Amino acid sequence: MQRKQKILIVEDHKDMLNIITRYLAEQGFEAIGTETAEVGLQRFEEEKPDMVLMDIMLPGMSGLEAMSRLKEQFTADNYVPIILITAKNTISDIVLGLESGADDYIVKPFNFEELLARVRTALRLKELNETLVRQTKELAEANDKINQLNRSLMSKNKELRRNIFNLRNLFEVSLELNSILDLKRLINSVLLTLVGQFSCKNALFFYTQRQNKGRMEVLNSKGFYQDEIENLQLTKSDPLFDYLTEHTRPDRLETIYEQVRKSEALSRLLALKMDILSPIVIKKKVEGLICLGPRVKKGSHSERDLEHISILTNIIAIAVHNAYLYEQVEELSYTDGMTALHNYRYFELRLKEEILRHKRTQSGLSLLILDVDYFKNYNDQMGHPAGDRVLRKIAAVLKETVRENDIVARYGGEEFAVIMPGEDKKGAFVLADRIRDAVEKTYFEHEEVQPNGKITVSIGCAALPEDADDANDLIHKADTALYAAKKAGRNQVKIFTPEMVQ
Ligand code: GH3
Ligand code: MG
Ligand code: MG
Repeated sequence: MQRKQKILIVEDHKDMLNIITRYLAEQGFEAIGTETAEVGLQRFEEEKPDMVLMDIMLPGMSGLEAMSRLKEQFTADNYVPIILITAKNTISDIVLGLESGADDYIVKPFNFEELLARVRTALRLKELNETLVRQTKELAEANDKINQLNRSLMSKNKELRRNIFNLRNLFEVSLELNSILDLKRLINSVLLTLVGQFSCKNALFFYTQRQNKGRMEVLNSKGFYQDEIENLQLTKSDPLFDYLTEHTRPDRLETIYEQVRKSEALSRLLALKMDILSPIVIKKKVEGLICLGPRVKKGSHSERDLEHISILTNIIAIAVHNAYLYEQVEELSYTDGMTALHNYRYFELRLKEEILRHKRTQSGLSLLILDVDYFKNYNDQMGHPAGDRVLRKIAAVLKETVRENDIVARYGGEEFAVIMPGEDKKGAFVLADRIRDAVEKTYFEHEEVQPNGKITVSIGCAALPEDADDANDLIHKADTALYAAKKAGRNQVKIFTPEMVQ
């Protein structure tokens, strides 16, 4: 059953009080009658009524005074309507009463239907107010929750975006590193990547050299003077080496130092204020070591950095291993991987063979050595990969220009050699100049950055029997002629003459 609504009535006229109380009780309310404001206030405390009917004129404390005391206790969610009861001649009291917060008033004498209507309206008002208060509270709570969710969503979103960014970075780095097969360049790129990605002050790359398996040496570094890292190495007898073989994840040097006290390498790295060590593991063996200095701004690296360094180190290990394999294969083969020309090994072999044949048959034998002009400038301006494309194109021009019996080889980085069996100096010069001309006329991307606006080559030429007796001497003479061509202004062919030696 629904609780009866409680009405407190404060009315000093006993008869009146009785009539009102009885009437309201008949209408289904719980009516509590009191005759003075003082008692009324007390009953209010005890009964917590739903509304108050308050006579203005009371003995002792007035109805208005009592009302303002009640109002002091009210809050937005504890609101009790008050209806004032007044005699006809107290209009000014009514105004005052309404101004002090009464919800309604009723003038004596009144009929009961009017009283009932006013009471019901006031009670409905109270209910509405309560609903409003409840809903406002619910709304505020819902709002709070939404705000909280929003905040956590935003931070999740940020984290997610950071992760995507990092992963994409890793992916790009991985692609880039795995496309570099030249070990020296790879290591250089690795260090630049690490220093860039983790904003390190400095970095070191250690690797086990093939000719000395007993230790790792610094193959490249960033942010150090040479003398700071002179003779820095990790020998296999150093306790750090055993430790790293067991703990292959990147870690802080400080943490490692708690485990490994007597390591010479570790002491030196700590003295250099390095922060992180990450072992490069290839086929379950620690073959190298990446060592990173502190961050330029924030000092030590974070846990997240360690996680990324770990992933990167794995990528680096694969790339380094590939490059090593490639280097080995290259060394065993006769072909230059980049230009698909013969390599130096093949050149040496064939030159010796051709010299023997020359000695048997007395037919001529000429050698050209070509060097790209101002190639360092092109590399510096356009980058190494663009330089490589130029070298490949020159190789193609060479192959097209020489005759079938000529042997073209990549002699060094940006140097090529052509062995011309059966050719004397005069014939060699003609062919050499044809090569020079063909290179000059070939368009190379961005060749306008070159000092003479073009990619060109200088060529030195020497021949047997007049210039030399053996392979080394012949190479040396062709080189001397090449030097003369450079000195004379480049983009030209010089034939060796004895005066060049003076
Ligand atoms: P010049 O011969 O006209 O005297 O000037 P240069 O600038 O060519 O002379 P230098 O011998 O000092 O520079 C040769 C440059 O060739 C330096 C090196 O970076 C570059 N080089 C050597 N091998 C390669 C290679 O395989 N690829 C690329 N892209 N560059 C290479
Ligand atoms: Mg050179
Ligand atoms: Mg050059």
